Amino acid sequence: MSTSANRLINRPILASIDTGAFRHNLNRIRELAPESKIWSVIKAKSYGHSLEGALAGLGSTDGFALLDIADAQWLRDHGWQGRILLLEGLFHTNELDLADDLRCDLVVHTENQVQWLESYQNKSGHRFGIFLKLNSGMNRLGLRPAEYRTAFHRLHAAGYRMHHMTHFANADQVDRSPSVGEQLECFEASTEGLQAPSSLANSAAILWHRNALGDWIRPGIMLYGVSPTGSFADIVRSDLQAVMQLRSEIIDIQEIKKGDHVGYGGRYEAPEDMRIGIIACGYADGYPRHAEDGTPVWIEAAGADGGEVICPIAGQVSMDMLTVDLRHAPQATVGSIVELWGKEIPVDDVAQMSGTIGYELICALAPRVPVEIK
Ligand SMILES: *Cc1c(COP(=O)(O)O)cnc(C)c1O
Repeated sequence: MSTSANRLINRPILASIDTGAFRHNLNRIRELAPESKIWSVIKAKSYGHSLEGALAGLGSTDGFALLDIADAQWLRDHGWQGRILLLEGLFHTNELDLADDLRCDLVVHTENQVQWLESYQNKSGHRFGIFLKLNSGMNRLGLRPAEYRTAFHRLHAAGYRMHHMTHFANADQVDRSPSVGEQLECFEASTEGLQAPSSLANSAAILWHRNALGDWIRPGIMLYGVSPTGSFADIVRSDLQAVMQLRSEIIDIQEIKKGDHVGYGGRYEAPEDMRIGIIACGYADGYPRHAEDGTPVWIEAAGADGGEVICPIAGQVSMDMLTVDLRHAPQATVGSIVELWGKEIPVDDVAQMSGTIGYELICALAPRVPVEIK
């Protein structure tokens, strides 16, 4: 592969993070929600894109939202001075001093956390911003409506800077319960008369429920150019760009006969004499083992006319390799560059052929894959 980062390593696999695409997607989100501030959600090491990539590409966000206080520390150590929201708040009281030092904002979703904050004697003079989380129907995290108002008053009385927050279960689908409308109704009833900024929308709500944004939106998946629904068709007209591109090379080619089988279990049987390309990417790199035959792989300059082609996976993905049908790629050779997902092949398409969603694939990019930020 031609990148300088890759020349340093032996195995030709590389995830490139396009900071220009990050900036583009963030601008798109600002266009969609011009009145809201943006928490860029970068949990799970920025959905597999690395914190370095997020900081390089998303520096004009209003804040970063994440789970792990060590990631908050990393952002401060690398110069981030804006706001940081701990999306699940504190897991234990022993995180309070560090969260305070790092000037984090905190989600509060349970009575324990309310008590910790009520009795906390802060030394730094920093007053935590609190995003008090209401369980408006998703039944995952959050205070029930009956507990919410008292918790709000207690934390407000303790001097914290209060915000309201809730999370939607079904902003990406219709005809599922609870609907965005039902959750919004619960939110409005539970927060009535309690003056504070609000934070409601995830990516799906930003795209499809612009009546349910709030003062602070929380886009995750759309920042990465991936679909909240699992289907790329649903965002194809939203002008978002893929940020991660996973590439590798063909490292060997097998000439096989009609009736020969390929790979573990012999899942693929050659319908005619043909060539099979062996690619240096397997499930230990984060490529899904469940990818079916036919899952698309893009190959550079391999077509009869020398153009790019898309070839189908042929045979079970193994730990370090996968195999493709090269019948439409007569010019493919050892060393041909392939894209597994990214600009040419939406990760959503690979996910659909593997019984999962793009979220899972990008988050599961394996630590052994080198990441290049460009
Ligand atoms: C992960 C997360 C988000 C982002 O969701 P996307 O579907 O990726 O946009 C927003 N809010 C909370 C509370 C989350 O945990």
